[in-house]
Amino acid sequence: MSFESGNNKINWASSHMPILKKIDERFSVEKPLKNLTIAVCIHLEAKTARLAEVLHHGGASVLLTGSNTLTTQDDVSMAIEHRGVQTFAKYGCSEEEYTNSLDSMLKKNPSIFIDDGGDLTNRLHTHFKHLLPKVLGGCEETTTGVIRLKSRETNNRLHVPMISVNNALSKCLFDNRYGTGQSVWTAIMNTTNLIVAGKTVVVAGYGWCGKGVSMRAKALGAKVIITEIDPIKSMEAHMDGFSVMPMEKAAPIGDFFITVTGCKKVISTKHFSLIKNNAILCNAGHFNVEIDMEELHKVAVGKTVRKNIQEFTLPDNKKINVLAQGKLVNLASGDGHPVEIMDLSFALQALCVEYIKSAKLKPGLYNVPKSIDQKVAELKLQSLGISIDQLTPSQVEYLNAFEI
Ligand code: NAD
Ligand code: SAH
Repeated sequence: MSFESGNNKINWASSHMPILKKIDERFSVEKPLKNLTIAVCIHLEAKTARLAEVLHHGGASVLLTGSNTLTTQDDVSMAIEHRGVQTFAKYGCSEEEYTNSLDSMLKKNPSIFIDDGGDLTNRLHTHFKHLLPKVLGGCEETTTGVIRLKSRETNNRLHVPMISVNNALSKCLFDNRYGTGQSVWTAIMNTTNLIVAGKTVVVAGYGWCGKGVSMRAKALGAKVIITEIDPIKSMEAHMDGFSVMPMEKAAPIGDFFITVTGCKKVISTKHFSLIKNNAILCNAGHFNVEIDMEELHKVAVGKTVRKNIQEFTLPDNKKINVLAQGKLVNLASGDGHPVEIMDLSFALQALCVEYIKSAKLKPGLYNVPKSIDQKVAELKLQSLGISIDQLTPSQVEYLNAFEI
């Protein structure tokens, strides 16, 4: 773990992020973010460091911390400091240190911020209210963060403009689905060194992430069971060829369990006693609430049997294994989404920050402007050498006609 390894990781990521490279080239010349202080709270690893660097090249002072106590890569943090970004995160910090790092950024009066899950937004609204009138706006990276923002807005508790980057099509279609789909399995396989083919995989939640995780489980040769609470998503899973059942029925059958719901206690006390010996449990949804870790610690003793695997022995001597302490397995026990995926998500972030600076938005929750969403997809296609058809003028006329 050194400055050099962090530097190499950032360089490797940068060389596979062509959209950010294009934005970087423009930002470096135009300096559209001049005089801004931007606070970024996203898992502090190489791709995030590259985003921070691009914002810095755009003229901003950039403050950076992680969005989870277990996902910071200290070597990357060290390396990005040398490139002019001030960092505040440490791998394995306590919850208190985590909150202090958010506060340390807010004490520097940022006028734009990027959040991932809502913690920074919450600190701003609860402990740094005096900053609210001066904040130009923020961007939210993930589904659960957007749910919290909607709830704030409904309850008249959202006092800054926020852009829901998560809901852009060039984010959720690719990051949540293909990014989570691949990175979750990379992490599970690297952490456990176990085979997936022939096993039964239970995926809780058939949203964007759940679709990706189950699609990749099927491709690895697993039998896949989906648990859901939404009738339409359940029908979709059924039509996609998966078994659908409640968690209580799936519990005794599964070898691997992956929660991606954004909900709490999806695997809880009533399931622990049903789950079979030696099953592997992990979460790729929000923080560590989807598997009821508190309850598991109460009913069992945990010991670490391999890095990032805790083995819990239940009173009947059965063993249940939990990966990455029930936190996001793909980031706490891996490098997160593949580089090219984060290129899409972070290009959206960079362009939305630029948009916030000039748009003079009122407090409220906004979608990513369609022009930005499409621009990112266009740049990606360009980088892949893929060209597509254009509508002819007569086709435009035909599509806009109200009578044919
Ligand atoms: P989504 O809203 O598209 O899907 C969530 C699904 O879970 C929905 O279909 C919902 O009906 C279902 N669900 C909710 N409660 C449930 C319960 N108790 N039991 C079974 N199913 C339930 O959301 P998404 O974009 O797929 O994101 C899911 C979670 O993953 C969020 O917390 C999000 O922030 C997080 N996320 C993680 C990563 C990562 O890198 N690990 C990436 C993107 C999103
Ligand atoms: N702070 C919360 C938020 C969930 S993180 C938590 O730790 O539980 C989910 C987000 O992480 C996704 O929306 C995705 O865009 C982001 N992510 C996935 N891989 C990443 C990576 N390699 N680097 C940075 N962010 C990543």
